[in-house]
Amino acid sequence: MALVHFDAHTDTYGNGSKYDHGTMFYHAPKEGLIDPTHSVQIGIRTEHDTDNGFTVLDAAQVNDRGVDEMIEQIKSIVGDMPVYLTFDIDCLDPAFAPGTGTPVIGGLTSDRALKLLRGLQPLNIVGMDLVEVAPAYDQSEITALAAASIALDMLYLQAAKKEAK
Ligand code: MN
Repeated sequence: MALVHFDAHTDTYGNGSKYDHGTMFYHAPKEGLIDPTHSVQIGIRTEHDTDNGFTVLDAAQVNDRGVDEMIEQIKSIVGDMPVYLTFDIDCLDPAFAPGTGTPVIGGLTSDRALKLLRGLQPLNIVGMDLVEVAPAYDQSEITALAAASIALDMLYLQAAKKEAK
C-alpha cells in the first residue's frame, strides 16, 4: 500500500534497534508492506536518508507552498493505491503540540495540517493512526486538543467516503 505520513521525522532510520518508533519505514518497504514510490512524507525537518524512494515534502516547503497545489501533488503520487495515513503529532510546530517526545521547531500550524488532511478525502484510505502524544509533556492540554481534533478530522475522511457510496 501507499503511505501518507505527517511527521517531523521520516522514521526511516536503519541503524537503530530492529523495530522502534524511528525505524518502521526503513523496514516496511523492505518487507513489501508499503511502496515508497507511491508514498509521501509531509513536514519533515530532521536529517534523513534521501535514497529510499519516498517523496519528502519538508516543513519549509510545506509552510511556503500553496495547499491546493500540494494536495494535487500528493494525489498524483499516491494514485489509486490503498493508503495508510499516519499522523505523528510532532509534525505540528511545538507551539501547537508541545506535548510530544521529540519536538522540532519550524513545523506546521494546526490550520495548515487540517487543510492538507481535508484535501486527502479522495484517496483510498484503508487505515490510519495518530501517534506520539505525550500527556506528561503537555501544557494546558494544547497537544491533546490538537490531536483529538485531527483524529476526528481523519474519521471524517472515512465518513465522507461512506457517504459518497
Ligand atoms: Mn516524529
